[in-house]
Amino acid sequence: MSRQRAKRISRRGFLRGGLAGTAAVTVLKSNHAQAGHDFTGYPDAMGVIVDLTRCIGCRSCEAACNHEQGLPAPEKPFTDFSVFDELDHGEKRRPDEAHYTVVNRYEAEGLDHPLFRKIQCFHCNEPTCLTSCFVNAYTKTPEGAVIYNPDVCVGCRTCMVACPFSIPAFKYSSAFHPRIMKCIFCHDTRLTKGRPPACVDACPQEALTFGKRVDMLKVAHQRIREHPDSYVDHVYGEDEAGGTSWLYLSPVPFDQVGLDPDIQKEPILNNVTGFLSFVPMVLSIWPLLFAGFHLLATRKEGKEMQHEENGAGEK
Ligand code: SF4
Ligand code: SF4
Ligand code: SF4
Repeated sequence: MSRQRAKRISRRGFLRGGLAGTAAVTVLKSNHAQAGHDFTGYPDAMGVIVDLTRCIGCRSCEAACNHEQGLPAPEKPFTDFSVFDELDHGEKRRPDEAHYTVVNRYEAEGLDHPLFRKIQCFHCNEPTCLTSCFVNAYTKTPEGAVIYNPDVCVGCRTCMVACPFSIPAFKYSSAFHPRIMKCIFCHDTRLTKGRPPACVDACPQEALTFGKRVDMLKVAHQRIREHPDSYVDHVYGEDEAGGTSWLYLSPVPFDQVGLDPDIQKEPILNNVTGFLSFVPMVLSIWPLLFAGFHLLATRKEGKEMQHEENGAGEK
């Protein structure tokens, strides 16, 4: 694993552990009003069903995404399935600055074959990346996409901590131009033109089904009704985190395919509205807070590197 990758993981881990209860929560702010506290998503928002009973792990969706989004060629070609054996700090592959979507393999109990699950941004109805961002770098569009504006991003990475699915990645190779990298639902090139995302178009198994989210929910429940022995009776994303545009169907409980079954079923922000009154204060002291967090993160990383490299790491 590259040193840069290790650094990113380490930093995310620290940010998640150290800041989740403090900064990430307290800066959740009044652009929640943009979504409205009772906001449950745009009525015509689009959605995608990811049906794990159909996915064969061919990685065509990954290749199509990288091509559509102009992402760099991967270290190993998309036809190399040894990537399914890769673990990073004990975790399966995750989207990062060079991959907006990745497919992983899972060995599920009671099945004589593996399952494969694609992951990307879930495009939450009420995204905590959006509500946590104090410079309004994120937008939830009426088409259902959660898009990001790098021109206003200050690189604080609060969105990385706030996301319940750990999706936003930081482009460390662009030190002077802070940039978060994540799936944008092919918003500009396809969604606004009424076209399916590139990954959906590329799937040879019709494991990905695109349409209005309300219709996708009906289709998903219909599949469960018609094939009750093939699916667990739950559409992951219908209510998780307040509802998401990307929905999952699975033949096994979702924890067996790496999805948190205990994620709360209401918008994450509903738990922190009490903090919103602190927002003006938080915004005014934010630069100081962030400077402190950055210092702590740097010192912690320095100690980790030092430990890993027998005293030769950075401080
Ligand atoms: S999955 Fe994370 S990054 Fe994507 S919209 Fe939801 S909160 Fe934002
Ligand atoms: S919707 Fe577009 S950006 Fe998102 S994973 Fe699919 S191809 Fe990539
Ligand atoms: S293209 Fe379809 S079948 Fe192939 S890995 Fe992606 S979702 Fe699965």
